[in-house]
Amino acid sequence: MLQSKLFTKTVKELPKDEISFNAQTLIRAGFIDKVTAGVYTFLPLGLKVHNKICDIIREEMNAIGGQEILMPALTPKNVWQTTDRWDSFDALFKLAGVDKKEYALGATHEEIITPLVKKYIFSYKELPVYIYQIQTKFRNELRAKAGLIRGREFSMKDLYSFHKDEEDLDKYYEIAKKAYFKIYDRCGLSDKTYLTFATGGAFSKYSHEFQTLTSAGEDTIYICDDCKIAINEEIIKEQETCPKCGGKKFRKEKAVEVGNIFKLGARFSKPFGLQFINEGGKKQDVIMGCYGMGPSRVMATIVEVHHDGRGIIWPEEIAPFVASLLKIKNQKSPAARRAAGQAKIKNIDEISNKIYTDLQAHGVEVLYDDRENISAGEKFADADLIGCPYRIVVSEKTLAKDSVEVKRRDSEKCEFVKLKEIINYF
Ligand code: ATP
Ligand code: MG
Repeated sequence: MLQSKLFTKTVKELPKDEISFNAQTLIRAGFIDKVTAGVYTFLPLGLKVHNKICDIIREEMNAIGGQEILMPALTPKNVWQTTDRWDSFDALFKLAGVDKKEYALGATHEEIITPLVKKYIFSYKELPVYIYQIQTKFRNELRAKAGLIRGREFSMKDLYSFHKDEEDLDKYYEIAKKAYFKIYDRCGLSDKTYLTFATGGAFSKYSHEFQTLTSAGEDTIYICDDCKIAINEEIIKEQETCPKCGGKKFRKEKAVEVGNIFKLGARFSKPFGLQFINEGGKKQDVIMGCYGMGPSRVMATIVEVHHDGRGIIWPEEIAPFVASLLKIKNQKSPAARRAAGQAKIKNIDEISNKIYTDLQAHGVEVLYDDRENISAGEKFADADLIGCPYRIVVSEKTLAKDSVEVKRRDSEKCEFVKLKEIINYF
């Protein structure tokens, strides 16, 4: 993409009404725009990153048998009454229709998916099934000061699994845990992400959270370093020892919950009457699990974890572009250039344009800073702020060596790469 055509611009000033690092930085770099507390627009750069995270999640959910659907955000009151959650789910956004009926904006979708599955599943032969969506959720969060970490409107992947018995759910639950870690690995978070025992909710003693260490985290967890697992502060009183090794040595850390999985049992299948005919011809409740993850929160967490004083450092698989290509002209005065013997250097425009086209033809996504009348310093600062994994510079200095200069965003080392080699570099 040509940076001269990008309708958004980076901004130097910190946004006044944001205190979280992820929101400040994503706004300054032109990834998101704030509409009101907890509500953001995803701009071209931000949407690219968000889509890449969603694609990774989609691939890993499909790999464990997930079938993707899309449920509505507008949900009728009666389904929430069926499960007794109309009054007890305190973050529900409620609204009235012209039909005088009441609705809630979907905060989670057990109330929609359970009656849906009831229309299609009748026999043990049709189980298990795994169904998911990636969709916008709404929660009337009290505090919305953590940027994309806590939106009032935010994206969630929610997968629901349906089983004939607990044993089958237990097996799938372990498979889902592994898939979650694959996702965090691809998003550059796995080193800092801990499987964390948390309150169970409906059915099992525990639920499992995936908590990523960062000072921006709103949760406190206790880590057992030997086992690489953790316990959420909210249950540390009832679970004083490591559930795996029995140890009592914990390290206290701040963390963000980037995922949460639950065994639901028959909590939702019972009120909706979701049953199946078992091998013996008898009716039985379907056993359910649910598996949530917030792509927008994952995006914010990546920014909190991967940055330096100059800006974001995106992991390669989810970066908006693999490389920033910087065309740097007029570094020196013509006299200085002549003195340096560089007068014969070919047109910088022409060469930069060709590198851009060649890299794109090679499948390398490039953000080409082709802007005129922008200083070299500003171009370097913008590239660092936006945070693509590689920076390629074309200037008189590099062309004097028939080369471009390549630098990884996460390293201070620069190297010269010959013009004819640059295609093979990526
Ligand atoms: P929290 O305890 O942080 O409020 P939760 O336990 O209520 O989250 P879940 O219902 O488990 O959240 O939602 C599944 C996932 O959706 C979470 O693990 C998180 O990644 C994401 N998520 C939840 N609430 C938000 C929010 N307000 N903004 C962004 N992402 C969210
Ligand atoms: Mg949770």
